[in-house]
Amino acid sequence: MNNALEVRFPALSENEALARLIISAFLAPIDPLVEELAEFKTSLSEAVTNAIIHGYDESEDGWVYVTARIEEHTVTVEIRDEGAGIPDIELAREPLYSSRAHEERSGMGFTIMESFCDEVTIHSSNGLGTTIQLIK
Ligand code: ATP
Ligand code: MG
Repeated sequence: MNNALEVRFPALSENEALARLIISAFLAPIDPLVEELAEFKTSLSEAVTNAIIHGYDESEDGWVYVTARIEEHTVTVEIRDEGAGIPDIELAREPLYSSRAHEERSGMGFTIMESFCDEVTIHSSNGLGTTIQLIK
């Protein structure tokens, strides 16, 4: 089965729950295992939280774009923001690295995405924004 989805929502923390519901509904027809669905929802919400907190600095001003595709047995989800960008992607991927460690962020978002997905690709440009692609 092939299918596709494209949504955008403002960078409000309330919309993390919305994103989780949307991906659940989108994936329902392929009947994912409970555990797989939980992993997808968690990975997506890590990326959406990052867009809101780091990309837009919690300003609530800006769009978060989520696209998803089902192609045969592969699911691809992209989360995009037009915010600050990631200055050092290698560093950002390191377990326990957070540019906001002083705010009790654990720096585990990318590590969680990487452990739950087969591929995590990060594209980012300073001042232009970030796109995270999750494939499973
Ligand atoms: P946690 O996810 O555990 O609460 P965290 O968000 O700091 O902590 P990661 O999700 O692993 O940790 O992200 C690592 C770092 O990458 C962040 O601290 C931030 O500096 C940067 N980053 C991640 N996503 C974005 C984004 N969309 N825009 C700008 N910077 C980002
Ligand atoms: Mg994070």
